[in-house]
Amino acid sequence: MHLLRPLTLISLSFGLVSCQISSIGIGRSTYGDRPGPKGFNTVVIDAGHGGKDSGAHVRGLMEKTLALDISKRLRSELQPGYKVIMMRSDDRFIELDHRAYHASQYGNAVLISIHLNYGRRSTSGPETFYWRTDSYSLAKRVQTQLSAVIPNESGNAGLVRRRLRLTRNPTIPCILVECGYLTNKREAALLTSAAYRERLAEAIARAIKDQSAKGDAGMGPLPRPIYAAPSRAGDARG
Ligand SMILES: [Zn+2]
Repeated sequence: MHLLRPLTLISLSFGLVSCQISSIGIGRSTYGDRPGPKGFNTVVIDAGHGGKDSGAHVRGLMEKTLALDISKRLRSELQPGYKVIMMRSDDRFIELDHRAYHASQYGNAVLISIHLNYGRRSTSGPETFYWRTDSYSLAKRVQTQLSAVIPNESGNAGLVRRRLRLTRNPTIPCILVECGYLTNKREAALLTSAAYRERLAEAIARAIKDQSAKGDAGMGPLPRPIYAAPSRAGDARG
């Protein structure tokens, strides 16, 4: 409960900023029923989980810690060419609805939520979730780039259209990236290496830069919009 007051203050100050920037760039869209973004200059990086919410916790590896590390590396890869907004830059808990709301305060921006996965011990590899039509190409580019640097994919779902609070509710293009499975011994071992986490961040940054430079070019037909209600707590993981 003690977190609510500071978050409200942050929300108010973000709201004021949004008044000044909402008229430029790609702007907001409730359903994302439009082409993917091109020429955007702002990236909102959301390190998944945090604080009391560790996320997946497997053999001493914590999702919240790895997600923050990869997020900070991604920030370094994107700056100074892009304005980068960090949803969190330390170990703190933030409600998912607050994350979606905060991301939506930025114009000409995309949201990348960084996570690590858990599942069967035999499953490994990246997964990238999107819901909106305007987020498809970015998700596909991220999945392709991660696949190129993550060895031994096995049983992973790959590129997935799924309605999550962070893929449906923000009013800017938004994707959720699972950078590998902590429950897979080989992948967990790789994730303990800073050099490997750096390669993951570089791959995601390449995809973001490609999307900003090319928009949807080369990505094939876009999926049809789905006019679904916002995702709520309890709908699904997310
Ligand atoms: Zn997660």
